[in-house]
Amino acid sequence: MAIGTVIAIAVLVPFLFYYLVGSEWERERDRQQQEERRRRSDELQRETRRAQRRESIERSRAAVDTSRSPATQNQHLRSLLPPSTNRIPRVELGSYLQNAREQQSQRRVGSRLWRDWQILIDGLKSPRNPATAVHAIHLDIPTLESCYNFYDNSVIRLLISKANSLGLGEIAVVYLQPLMYPRMSAKDANARLGDYSPLASESLTHFYVKMETLSDKIYKVRSFFGAVHAILYYCLPPNRNLQEYIEILTHLTNLLERALRPYLSERTQLFRAKISLLVILSPIDSRDSRAIIGFNAVGDKELKSIIIQERLAHLSELRDVQLSGLTWSAGNCAEDETFSHFHKLCSSPMGQSRELIAASLTLNILDGESNGPCKQCVQLMKILRDQLRTVTILSLAPVRGNRVEQLMVTAENGGQEMAN
Ligand SMILES: [Zn+2]
Repeated sequence: MAIGTVIAIAVLVPFLFYYLVGSEWERERDRQQQEERRRRSDELQRETRRAQRRESIERSRAAVDTSRSPATQNQHLRSLLPPSTNRIPRVELGSYLQNAREQQSQRRVGSRLWRDWQILIDGLKSPRNPATAVHAIHLDIPTLESCYNFYDNSVIRLLISKANSLGLGEIAVVYLQPLMYPRMSAKDANARLGDYSPLASESLTHFYVKMETLSDKIYKVRSFFGAVHAILYYCLPPNRNLQEYIEILTHLTNLLERALRPYLSERTQLFRAKISLLVILSPIDSRDSRAIIGFNAVGDKELKSIIIQERLAHLSELRDVQLSGLTWSAGNCAEDETFSHFHKLCSSPMGQSRELIAASLTLNILDGESNGPCKQCVQLMKILRDQLRTVTILSLAPVRGNRVEQLMVTAENGGQEMAN
């Protein structure tokens, strides 16, 4: 009996142990295996979904690419990038330098005119001032050069920002902002749908701008070019050398041509726009200088006539100019706007008793060419020279048909002469 009981316990205890503990052990192992299978399955499903998503992205990209012609793809890219017109035109001072040398060679060595031409030659070759010397409001050459990297109308944008800094924001709203055609390139067809009124119409609001160098110290802005004249009056840096002023003039001419191309080329008869530079400098130190940039009277008949009348009021000598068989009257030319500042520029702050040199250069905005002053402007300069004998007035415009292009002075080589 006792042995039987011991045997029974000996069999039963391991059986119970196996049944109770071992089965629990197996169930736990099964659970872990199931868990592992589920984890693998989930992982597989996730990986499948990722692969499907990648595939669908690839498919949609391919669909977008095939739905676009190369032209529309390029257009898409163009809308993200500025037009690729980032080549900065070289400012060639060679023709002006050549003209100055020819003029000088016709003078007696040691005479005042010989000396004054030599001063202009030196001014055309002297290196630029360091950019750091430029006041924030002033236009500097690197800023103008950077305009070529952006949209065709970037110079208008630059002038608007200058106008805002000068407190001339209202003028920019009326005369500059409407010419900011929506497309980036002036070559785009719909740029021609722009608003011409700031260039042509006399019906826009006019503004008074203080200009110390005018006889009544007040300039009336009545057009786009009047607005640019007013902005440049404050933005052109003083005390630069002649090379810098001519570089600024040439860049402004190129950039205005780019910006106004849709307007100027559509209505060439109306807008034969010219830009003129007048630099007054001291023969003792040619960096003791001041510059003015002006424009011809551009616009409809009424606007032109008002602008010319106002110029006659500023520069009474224009009334003494005889009509010389030309189709325009005195007061129309770009020189007439710059020379309106002549008397005051030649007196204060440089001093009336001192000798001075006045250098003038006028360019066509459309082609950048210079034809020199017209017969009426030559008359005006003679009248002014007779009044102020201490000032020599010289035109930098090369003689037409007598240009020698071999000698070039470029902005890049810092004014060194270079054989072509
Ligand atoms: Zn003229």
